Amino acid sequence: MAGKLDAVVVGAGPNGLAAAVALAQQGFAVALIEAHAQVGGGTRTAELTLPGFHHDVCSAVHPLGELSPFFSSLPLDQHGLSWAHPPLSIAHPLDDGPCVVLERSVAATADGLGADAHAYRRLMDGFVRVGKPLFADMFGPLRIPRHPFAMARFGFYGVRSAVRLTRGLFAQPRARALIAGCAAHSIMPLDRLLTGAVGLLFAFSGHLCDWPVARGGSGAIAEALASYLRSLGGRIITGQRVASLRELPAARAYLFDLSPRQLSQIAADALPAGYLKRLSRYRYGPGVFKLDWALSGPIPWRDPTCARASTVHVGGTLEELAASEAAPFRGEHHERPFVLCCQQSHFDDTRAPAGRHTGYAYCHVPFGSTVDMTDAIERQIERFAPGFRDVILARKAHGPADLERYNEAFVGGVIAGGQSDWTQLFTRPVVRLDPYSTPNPRLFLCSAATPPGGGVHGVSGYYGAQSAARALRRGKI
Ligand SMILES: Cc1cc2nc3c(=O)[nH]c(=O)nc-3n(C[C@H](O)[C@H](O)[C@H](O)COP(=O)(O)OP(=O)(O)OC[C@H]3O[C@@H](n4cnc5c(N)ncnc54)[C@H](O)[C@@H]3O)c2cc1C
Repeated sequence: MAGKLDAVVVGAGPNGLAAAVALAQQGFAVALIEAHAQVGGGTRTAELTLPGFHHDVCSAVHPLGELSPFFSSLPLDQHGLSWAHPPLSIAHPLDDGPCVVLERSVAATADGLGADAHAYRRLMDGFVRVGKPLFADMFGPLRIPRHPFAMARFGFYGVRSAVRLTRGLFAQPRARALIAGCAAHSIMPLDRLLTGAVGLLFAFSGHLCDWPVARGGSGAIAEALASYLRSLGGRIITGQRVASLRELPAARAYLFDLSPRQLSQIAADALPAGYLKRLSRYRYGPGVFKLDWALSGPIPWRDPTCARASTVHVGGTLEELAASEAAPFRGEHHERPFVLCCQQSHFDDTRAPAGRHTGYAYCHVPFGSTVDMTDAIERQIERFAPGFRDVILARKAHGPADLERYNEAFVGGVIAGGQSDWTQLFTRPVVRLDPYSTPNPRLFLCSAATPPGGGVHGVSGYYGAQSAARALRRGKI
């Protein structure tokens, strides 16, 4: 590679792209190396079922992307990214009564929660009053927050498990189910500490933005980051899988948008045995089983309000969700799993031919599971949308092994970089003052296996880049 490089980033997922952008913005010469033919990692789009149906291979709905303090500082709109917003962020159907909805207005959301309306308003108003700056405080490595009182209040509620939090705050199933559905994004049993925080964070995000999809597909996020990176002089090499440090061009720093397991394999000779041992103890948590459908029409929800949301949380009450989310941790497959269902084509007409729709859903399964969950997922959707199977034209399934084959960073089908329990949320991949650094001063990690963890937000990449930039500026590498 011609020209002297300051940094090489391995892996062009949203965090690798973000890291490369953050370094290029600071004037460093940076190259990004990606195994796949396309950039994007967990944020790509492809015709997975039938011609003309554009599916999000991994990430689908992007409150974290739109609210990301780093992405929102970039001119991604000038590089082709535009968000398509639904009228409702979440619909959560229940067997009896209308679905529960999360909409931008706290008051309108609370109105659907019956006797818990006042408790919900009191809980959320305090967070929404501080708004996006509070979200930014929540979303990064451990540090002194800009809004310590609001953060302390968030911590007071969020430290609890989702089960304790919702039973303590709410008297009725509707509000409990709404927050439990949000908490299930943690991919943790809902009776574990801090799952309340994830529930609150996702619900709060729905009061700051209407959970958007990327127009044209989630791949547009990666393409916009790549285009901006090129405009800053960054170089991108695709189709080159990295197996060893020896394959990398000469540079002062190397950043890995990969799993801890991959870092240990690629840099085995360059890291001390003690650190490698600690990386080997990293816990990944459950994987996912995903389905994409080409549909002849919209999903026929019993409650048509569900069609107005980008995300439908399918699975019923708090108790049902808690049972479903506990199962993968015991190595079991729940027969009525919690299903995250997304309806991108309702808000972005580029996704499917006129009058047709795409459907997207996944459920959590044990790490590395080989069980086919197609029937279980479709039965759950049929439960709230009778006749759903009649609108399916074609389907494509991705189990954990398929996801890992597609992207080696999804070890065991794990989509959020690793387990997000209290021991690993801020201290991933190992306990270290600067979790992005390694004992080798030239090697850094910048993937979802570093704080703040999974999702398409680029914040791990940004902080990984800051850590590398400090070392580059000190001139010791
Ligand atoms: C099914 C599914 C649904 C999801 N839904 C959402 C969602 O709706 N919203 C959301 O915000 N997030 C979602 N996520 C999570 C999100 O996609 C990830 O958390 C995010 O992509 C992590 O970004 P990353 O940059 O850390 O890693 P990745 O996106 O995993 O990127 C890693 C990159 O490294 C490359 N790579 C791997 N090995 C090598 C190697 N040896 N050499 C060179 N390159 C290599 C890979 O090809 C990949 O491009 C979902 C993920 C999945 C799988």
